[in-house]
Amino acid sequence: MSLVLKFGGSSVADAACVRRVAEIVKGAAPRSPVVVLSAMGKTTDALFAAAQAAERGETEVAMRALKEIVAGHKKACGELWEGEPPVDLQQFIEALSTQIDMLLRGVALLRELSARSRDAIVSFGELLSSQIVAAYLHSRGVPAAWLDVRRVMRTDASFGGAEPQTGEIARLARTELVPLMGPERIVVTQGYIGSTKDGITTTLGRGGSDYSASLLGAAIGAEEVQIWTDVEGILTADPRMVPEAVPVLELSFREGAELAAFGAKVLHPATIQPAVDADIPVTVRHTMRPEGRFSTITAKGGAGSKRPATAIASRSPIQVITIESTRMLAQSGFLARIFDVFGRLGVSVDVVATAEVSVSLTVEANAPIEAIKKELGAFAHVSVASDRALVALVGERLKHTSGLAARVFGAIASINVEMISMGSNEINLSLVVERKDEAAAVRLLHKALFAGNGESR
Ligand code: ADP
Ligand code: ASP
Ligand code: MG
Repeated sequence: MSLVLKFGGSSVADAACVRRVAEIVKGAAPRSPVVVLSAMGKTTDALFAAAQAAERGETEVAMRALKEIVAGHKKACGELWEGEPPVDLQQFIEALSTQIDMLLRGVALLRELSARSRDAIVSFGELLSSQIVAAYLHSRGVPAAWLDVRRVMRTDASFGGAEPQTGEIARLARTELVPLMGPERIVVTQGYIGSTKDGITTTLGRGGSDYSASLLGAAIGAEEVQIWTDVEGILTADPRMVPEAVPVLELSFREGAELAAFGAKVLHPATIQPAVDADIPVTVRHTMRPEGRFSTITAKGGAGSKRPATAIASRSPIQVITIESTRMLAQSGFLARIFDVFGRLGVSVDVVATAEVSVSLTVEANAPIEAIKKELGAFAHVSVASDRALVALVGERLKHTSGLAARVFGAIASINVEMISMGSNEINLSLVVERKDEAAAVRLLHKALFAGNGESR
């Protein structure tokens, strides 16, 4: 049996964090761990910024950003080794920084940044962090093999948000990853990045390292995927909005997936699916409090729990599109025509609410509104409200809790709710409010439904 441990950016932000990570990994050594790393701290943001500066032709700005990134990594190394890091690590860092330098100069010369070039540039954060952690483990006498995950993480060529090819990943994991694994042998690799079949670097989209971890976990049939981060698991709400939010100890896969999809940033939205497919528990844990509480996400979740709701998530900005047709009732296939438009334009719709003569639905802030309006305008009246937020109350027991709707709407009576929808899986009650009311809506709901709980079981 084996374990996947994923450490997010804040968990490897500096030398002190890396030491913590090494302790946790050492503790897991008997369970054949595969360690999946994010870039250190805000490195990915800095790489994006450097690439954008280069695209504007601002070579100096891009070079300065690169210099800072490299200096930050060297500083962490200096602290970790209290002096000179191993020569091969120094050489690796130099070689990578030369490559990024060349890429950024190329972008600046052309003033052109394709999604493919951007992926090549931003992939360096994970390559750097994983090399540092592997070398550090090695120096501490912990046998660690570094794997370039691009040998395994096969994706399509949708740069910036590539689609993993799970069959190929499983096949490649057998030949490239499994032979490196074993008790007391640690494999250290990267999250977020992948490669096409032609060996071109891709990324899974921002925050994608969680997804990498569950994909690799499924590919090797791991007994558990551990997501190590800066909170004690999935909390009843985003702690930045609700400081008194408490950990949810057990969640179902459906709850975890729904919360992630509706804005709980603690998990990348795609993380749960591979775990469902392979029936692998996902746990979410705090790197700075390894002995503390944590969340476990499984098929059965908190079955038996009496809690009316599991957690609240929210997401903004989103837009609400309302489509009206006085002849809607008479027109069979009206909804099909509407969804055909969204399908053709490749726009995903999150929440839908229908009335007799109108349909309202929510789309991302960056959806191609003009194109949508033009196509729908051919057969209906269309209006768009932007700067809205989606607030989702998630829980397997929502529909079994009588009086819940009254509690929800009583709690947020002071807020104008523009749209209400119970997801078809019946575990998600979604509300649309103006963006300015998002935080208040989340806080009021949290107070009404979770106040007084030390933790949520
Ligand atoms: P990492 O760098 O480890 O991937 P992220 O910043 O992506 O970490 O995710 C962790 C953050 O997610 C937390 O610090 C918290 O601010 C945010 N978050 C949002 N919703 C929740 C929630 N329901 N439970 C826990 N954390 C949440
Ligand atoms: N480093 C990447 C990002 O910042 C991936 C991740 O951390 O999950 O988006
Ligand atoms: Mg994350």
